[in-house]
Parts: sequence; C-alpha cells; structure tokens
Amino acid sequence: MVTPPSPSSIFEKESLVFLEKALEILESGFSELTPRAASPTDPKAVGDVIFEVARRLQDNYPYFHPLYAGQMLKPPHPVARMAYALALWINPNNHALDGGRASSRMEKEAVAALAAMIGWKVHLGHLCSGGTMANLEALWVAGRLRPHTKVVASQQAHYTHARISAVLGLPFEAIPCDRFGRMDLEALKRCLENGEVGTVVATIGTTAAGALDPLPELLSLKDQYGFRLHADAAYGGYFFLADNLSFQARRIYERLPAVDSMVIDPHKHGLQPYGCGCVLFKDPAVGRFYKHDSPYTYFTSDALHLGEISLECSRPGAAAVGLWATQRLLPLVRGGVFAQGLEESRKAAVALYERLRGDARFLPAFPPELDIVVWAVRADRVTRASRMARRIFDEAARRHLHLALAELPTAFFDLEGAGMEGDQETLTCLRSVLMKPEHHAWIGRIWEILDEATRAAHRNEASLP
Ligand SMILES: *Cc1c(COP(=O)(O)O)cnc(C)c1O
Repeated sequence: MVTPPSPSSIFEKESLVFLEKALEILESGFSELTPRAASPTDPKAVGDVIFEVARRLQDNYPYFHPLYAGQMLKPPHPVARMAYALALWINPNNHALDGGRASSRMEKEAVAALAAMIGWKVHLGHLCSGGTMANLEALWVAGRLRPHTKVVASQQAHYTHARISAVLGLPFEAIPCDRFGRMDLEALKRCLENGEVGTVVATIGTTAAGALDPLPELLSLKDQYGFRLHADAAYGGYFFLADNLSFQARRIYERLPAVDSMVIDPHKHGLQPYGCGCVLFKDPAVGRFYKHDSPYTYFTSDALHLGEISLECSRPGAAAVGLWATQRLLPLVRGGVFAQGLEESRKAAVALYERLRGDARFLPAFPPELDIVVWAVRADRVTRASRMARRIFDEAARRHLHLALAELPTAFFDLEGAGMEGDQETLTCLRSVLMKPEHHAWIGRIWEILDEATRAAHRNEASLP
C-alpha cells in the first residue's frame, strides 16, 4: 500500500505572509495619495461576523482534501488565491481598459497563453464567469454565422448546450453515444444528411466520464458537410499538455487546433477560484459580432479592448490576475510542473481503474481517458446494482471518503459479460474525479476505505428480507 504523505496541517496558511508583504508593495504604488481614514466599522463587530462566517463555512465537504474524490472540485493554487485576494484591494473591473488597466493587460496575456497552449498564434478570446457563459458566447457566434441552423452535441455533452441553444433560439439535437461515451459517428452522419446542422459541439472530456469525442473523424465530416466545429474542452482542455494519455486520446488532442472555437475552464483544471472560464475563437474577425456603442462605457483606446469582445459587461479583474499569476508560476508547457500535476491525476485514475477491474465486486465502464473513473457494482440486476452504488456512496462518506454518483446508460457496461439482468435503461454507478495531483499517492488509502464501505454495504444488503 502507498502511504499518504505525512500530514502537517489541513489548510495551507504559509501564503498569508506573502500576501501581507505584497499588499505593502501594492500600496507603495499609491504613496502620493493623501492617506485617508480607515473605514469606521467597529473592529469587534467585524471580528464577530467573520468568525461566525468561519463557523458557518465548516458545513462543507472537504473539497480540498485528497479523500474528497467525488465531483469536479478542488482548491485554487495558493498563488491564485493570493493574487486574487491582492487584486481585491483595487477591485478592478475588466469590462473596459480604464476599469482595470493592469488586470486587462494580464487577462490578454493569460488568454494568449491559453491559445498558445494549443498552438494558436492568433485568436480572439477572453475570460468569463465559467464554462456555461463561455459556451454561450461560442454558440452565439456560431448562430450569428449560421442563423437558424441546428446545433448538435452528444447525449453525454454538458446539459448546458441544449439550454443555451434554447436561449439563443437555435434548434438543438442530442446525438447518441457509443459504448465508450463518445459521440456516435454513424448517428451523427444520419443527422448531417438532413442538411440542417450548422454547428457540431465536440466534447473534449465529458463531465460524467471524461470521454473524448472523436475529433479527427469529426474534422473529416466538417470537410464534407461544412459545419462549424466547437470544442467544449471546459474540463479536458488542459490535458493537451499531459504526456501519458492513450494513443487514441493523443490523436484527438493533436487535432484540437483545427476547431473553430474552444472553451476551457481555468476554474476546473487550471487551479483557479470559481468565476474563471475562457472562450477562444480561431478567427479574430468574429469580434465584429460583439460591436456595441454603449454611451456609458468609457472607450479611451482604439484597440479592441476586452469589454468590446465580451457579452458580459462587468467582469472580475481579480480572476485575470489570479490566472496570470498561476501561469507565471506554472507555465502551460509539456513536461512542466503544471503538466505533471495533470499526469499524476491521470495516473491516479488508471490505478483506481486497474484495481476496480481486478475486483469481482465491481464493473468499471471503460478505461479512463482523463482522470475520471466510473464503475458499477456487480449484482444480479441493474436495479440492485444501482441501490448498492448508493449504499457504498453513503458508507464511504461515513468513513470520510467522498465519491460521486452518476446515472449512466447501461450500454456503457458489459452487463452480459457480468451476467447482470438489464432491468432498467440507466444504471446508478459510482464516479470519482481524481483531479488533485495528490490523489495518486492516496489511491491506496482510497481503496482501503472503498473496500470497507463495500463490505458494509453488502452486509446491509444481505440483512434485508
Ligand atoms: C463544467 C462543464 C461545463 C460548464 O461549465 P461551468 O464552468 O460549470 O459553467 C460545460 N461543459 C463541460 C464539458 C463541463 O465539464
């Protein structure tokens, strides 16, 4: 068994010292101003409130801890947290250059680095509140270029695409998936034959299972049918940098630069606080759709600034500062520390998958392409397997291992091989997103708890009448 690193504390607090020093440096930039009185708020009252907040916040799952291995949640990097917090003393607004000069420049640099990561030398792009907003902008541009045409995405695509299409007034169709959770190409071709498809969304890392839609084949179909291709890489985008992907995944990532637009979420795998998504367009000319002439916004520069290429008006400069600082410390390069973190996550997923595969109590769906593992509990029939998954989920949580549940098509599992009766179309299975690099070192401990939780769940099941 791999022993977890010996613990020192739960939270990282060392960075507070740097934050205080950095605040002094920031303040010295404004030393010509007349000092002003501190705000008159009663310090005791402030203390009472913030201590109450600390107690209220105790009511959370420990998302920051390696034994939280459930949903897509992880803490920001300390440097992102510090940079974000530092920026709040200014509170810049990146809606216009004059709302935050420094943070606007940092946003442009940070976004250019994301574009450069996939090899785009020119691009148009900006940060926004998250993957939903970023996808909305990408599909909005797609709709402007191909009005009244259909948007299609796989049945495993994020639910946001159907809703966004409805918001934009574009017809939407979900394309069935193959047994590996990828868009089914035959089903897509049948849909393309109808001739109404304007945009295909390729999911690069599905939210449920981390599956990758077959980009090389989708690009061939794009040549044939001429649709616009958007990559929703909100979750999986950064794995472009990982060196330990499967041959098949590598082949998909290699073609990522060929898409028309892409979404990547720095607040998913980019070590950022929430409120940081990014949309990128390959052709900067789409900026023309964003044109507005608000009498309120103060346009002082001739260059297209960020407020002119974004649907949102006010945007947190602090988010750009956090991302810029993180990329400065951990550049987006193959073989770098950041890339190694992603590789560790993937190793953790492969290690967990191998253990599950070798254990007669479990039935993993398919090998993980990224760092998400989904598996069923073997039972005589799907309804029982689903109930067992929920029991194991509860028993694991009681032992401080936090997993997730997912409702997936039974087609993702080899029910026949496992001798299971498919008495339902979908199956409740267990899901683990191993997105912290430390997860790799903790797989031994995670497995021990999963094993105990599974035994307990089977005991409870057996005691039923
Ligand atoms: C998380 C996710 C989204 C939604 O992004 P938010 O940042 O949560 O708004 C969209 N698509 C995929 C593939 C995702 O994983």
